[in-house]
Amino acid sequence: MKTYDCIIVGTGPAGLGAAFRLSDQKPGLRILVIDKENLCTGGLRHDCKMNFTYPVGFPVDCWTGKQAEHYLPMVIERLKPEFMQRTDLETYQLRAERLGVSLLDIRQCHLGTDGGLQLIKRLMDELARRNVEVSLEETVNDIDPSARRIITNHREIGYQDLILAPGRGGFRFLQLAMAKAGIPFLDNVVDIGIRVETREERFSIVRDYYDPKFNFPDRVRTFCTNSGAAYVVRERYETRVGREYFSVNGHAYSHSRPRNGMVNFALLKTVTLTEPLASGQDFAEMLGCQAMLLGGNKPIMQRVGDFRLGRRSEVKSFNRDLNDFEPTLADCTAGDISLATPAKILKPIWSAMKMLDTIVPGVLHPGTIMYYPEIKLYANKPRFIDKYFKAAENIYLAGDGAGTSRGITGAWASGIRAADGILSRM
Ligand SMILES: Cc1cc2nc3c(=O)[nH]c(=O)nc-3n(C[C@H](O)[C@H](O)[C@H](O)COP(=O)(O)OP(=O)(O)OC[C@H]3O[C@@H](n4cnc5c(N)ncnc54)[C@H](O)[C@@H]3O)c2cc1C
Repeated sequence: MKTYDCIIVGTGPAGLGAAFRLSDQKPGLRILVIDKENLCTGGLRHDCKMNFTYPVGFPVDCWTGKQAEHYLPMVIERLKPEFMQRTDLETYQLRAERLGVSLLDIRQCHLGTDGGLQLIKRLMDELARRNVEVSLEETVNDIDPSARRIITNHREIGYQDLILAPGRGGFRFLQLAMAKAGIPFLDNVVDIGIRVETREERFSIVRDYYDPKFNFPDRVRTFCTNSGAAYVVRERYETRVGREYFSVNGHAYSHSRPRNGMVNFALLKTVTLTEPLASGQDFAEMLGCQAMLLGGNKPIMQRVGDFRLGRRSEVKSFNRDLNDFEPTLADCTAGDISLATPAKILKPIWSAMKMLDTIVPGVLHPGTIMYYPEIKLYANKPRFIDKYFKAAENIYLAGDGAGTSRGITGAWASGIRAADGILSRM
């Protein structure tokens, strides 16, 4: 059985952050990075918009501002962002404050889906030059912490240290691995919401601030705003029992692509489940399946004009009169999102939409589309035993799947932090 000094599961930003840190600091280390896909998944590959200001992307229960400030310069050094201008921020902030809403001032850059692919290529080439081994299309199915080995669909491999960074998509695998390693965890938080799509001139703030981060009352926030050449997409998920459901998402291409004049963003509500404690993942899956039931196995979309009148959107009226643009996600059912969304989630989201329309007039145009569901599964909260995200002997957890980040930059920083744990013992 081949053995490495460190095996990293996942080539997302958390895994890459760890691989770069280890190979920077100890060039001779034998490092293996494994991914079940043929290219890393997630935000590096789709849209690639990066936020470089705490606390966006850095969950406050894992990061203090000081810790994030320590790691962010290292992330910047590796990813070399070109920061975007933000203009007229004070005007929007004043309007927001009057409503009890905050607008965060965040340093951002946006590479776009095409630019992200170029970045991934540059990073992979650099890892190859450093003799870091990368094995793609290899799935880690199990871990055996007592023998310090992992079991993939091809082989068994030994490790001195293991960093698990399987992202949100690896949620179930991480739960299995944590059970195997005796790592206690909580899974009681989930983000659920809608994706809003409209013409760019109806959400014109994006010309001043690419991805405006609004925090509304009742733990509702804007998330992942895309404009320029912007599209709504759907992602396929599978429940524990193998049922398929789709969550919507959004992305944009870089400014080198022709603009389509559209903008989309998510409005998410954070739900924390308490007594009787249920799994956030199970709750989200149930809601995802409920939406599929009503949408004929597709996400549901509804025009704001129909929603306001309390009636479903229908195919025949979906693109008529004031409904003056085609949805960029065609594979979706015109229907009634309020039939599928719990009131406790939809009411504060609708209230946030109204506030948003007061801050940036236009977004509540009757033609604006609301897509449902948008689900973010990053709710694993493991118990760490040190500040480096060590969760068991020789096992570190990093990235979104372990709840240590919520975005590319936080994930990259969490990978560096886990690597620092290994380096601190050498
Ligand atoms: C469509 C989309 C667009 C996004 N856009 C943005 C954005 O613009 N900006 C932003 O900051 N964030 C964005 N995000 C979120 C961002 O992708 C994540 O926050 C970030 O990628 C988390 O990094 P990670 O390394 O933890 O996980 P990931 O990037 O998800 O990487 C985990 C990797 O582990 C692999 N893996 C999982 N399980 C196994 C296993 N058992 N064996 C082997 N490999 C495994 C997966 O294939 C995956 O490549 C987006 C997410 C999606 C889905």
